Amino acid sequence: MIRGMDGPKERRADGNGGDKPVADAPVVVVGAGFAGLAAAVRLVEGGRRVVVLEATSRGGGRSRSFTHDSGYELDNGQHLLMGCYHETMAFLRTIGSDDAVAFQRNLAIDMVKEGGGRVKLRCPALPAPLHLAAGLLGMRGLGVLHKAAAMRAGLLLRGEVDRPDDNETCDAWLRRLGQTQGIRGAFWDPLVWAVLNDDPLVASAGMLMAVLERAFLGTRDASRLGVSRVPLSRLYVDGACAWLRARGAELRFGQLVRAVECDDRGVSSVLLRGGERIDCRDVVTAVPPAALLDLLPDAALRHPVFQDVGRLGNSPIINLWLVVDRPLFTDVEYVGLIGSPLHWLFDRSRIEGRDDGDRTLLNATISGARGFVDDKPEILLELFRAEAQRYFPGRRVHVLDSQIVKEKRATISHAAGTYHRRPETRSPVRGLWLAGDWVRTGIPATIESACQSGHMAASMILGDISPF
Ligand SMILES: Cc1cc2nc3c(=O)[nH]c(=O)nc-3n(C[C@H](O)[C@H](O)[C@H](O)COP(=O)(O)OP(=O)(O)OC[C@H]3O[C@@H](n4cnc5c(N)ncnc54)[C@H](O)[C@@H]3O)c2cc1C
Repeated sequence: MIRGMDGPKERRADGNGGDKPVADAPVVVVGAGFAGLAAAVRLVEGGRRVVVLEATSRGGGRSRSFTHDSGYELDNGQHLLMGCYHETMAFLRTIGSDDAVAFQRNLAIDMVKEGGGRVKLRCPALPAPLHLAAGLLGMRGLGVLHKAAAMRAGLLLRGEVDRPDDNETCDAWLRRLGQTQGIRGAFWDPLVWAVLNDDPLVASAGMLMAVLERAFLGTRDASRLGVSRVPLSRLYVDGACAWLRARGAELRFGQLVRAVECDDRGVSSVLLRGGERIDCRDVVTAVPPAALLDLLPDAALRHPVFQDVGRLGNSPIINLWLVVDRPLFTDVEYVGLIGSPLHWLFDRSRIEGRDDGDRTLLNATISGARGFVDDKPEILLELFRAEAQRYFPGRRVHVLDSQIVKEKRATISHAAGTYHRRPETRSPVRGLWLAGDWVRTGIPATIESACQSGHMAASMILGDISPF
């Protein structure tokens, strides 16, 4: 065991390493993505002095924007939110940005078939989960057998079969529920790719179940989809930083943290790349798994909790940003493509409510993109052209400009049997609190998981909830 590290059964009297908080000792938050900023805001609300240290010059992590040569402000990837993102919306409300997220009135999704036909899911204003049942039954463009299979799944979900655990894949579970290819292609598989960022053959059915419970078995509003009307950095980074600064928090960008240092009482300081040391007794690390392991002392790395962190895999996402000479579709803001490696197409010009004249800004998203990350931009652009023709045969669009963003470590992998590797908020090192979308939140690595993790870390430091 290393200095300051708890044994498995050791318990402490409070959430702060056994010491009452020293009035002006700062809590250091490492990372200014959703998790770090949500934690910082909650800590400041709780009266703590906060220092946020962020390696990059602008922050935002895996949900960030940048200005493209064309003048467009682009996100590293198009992000969808859901009505069940309660922690995210609480964070955005506090910093005054919640109005920038536009949610559907009721869940509605258009899925495009090869040749251009649509399968439309429209959930009526009924209480959940009746709204989904009615939406699936009324799905236009889907045969009756497939709808019957969906209904069967609904009944089974109400408790008539064993719930899937984390060791079962989505594919195995959906087969067990007797789901047809038709309903899988139009509903289940796109849902799995979108929320678990992986192939149904690999992804955990237990994780899918966690999403179904939050999004479809709670309230009707929980299943609505939402998009930000503004680029992501404007949605939350700018607002959170202004909010924090106005309340005395210190935000330092371009500051790579090199190490979290410990003494007998647990965390004692953080060391910056430039050699500066900041004394503190509480650190929230809100960085991805590999970045966390880089910060820890060797002895901590031998602890089973951190050994498991080292075994977490990654799953990539590729986003194609395309400036085209005409819209591919004009009736909705986004569509899914059934049976295409391009899972979603978003009309960003329409989403942002901009009149771009004879140009349209499109986004095409490839989730779980392991098979495409090594492809050159020309190949990916050719894929877009081919799929645009296959799914929208009447519309000949020309790509005027493009930008491809490959996020090789977009999320951790939610492969079946890996959930137990995700660590709890309270780490084995006293005063080291783990945040980030990938910690053990009970849900997949998403914006909501990031905000929830940041709020959990803050609440434990503030003593609002017991870490035990
Ligand atoms: C392309 C793409 C599409 C996605 N789509 C969706 C979606 O539709 N819906 C959804 O809910 N989620 C989506 N996600 C997931 C979502 O982006 C993440 O869950 C979320 O951004 C994670 O936030 P985080 O704060 O946990 O981590 P990060 O955003 O990774 O933030 C970590 C921060 O820590 C900083 N950092 C790292 N190391 C150090 C260090 N040593 N010192 C100082 N700073 C450091 C980094 O620079 C970074 O700013 C998507 C992700 C990607 C990449």
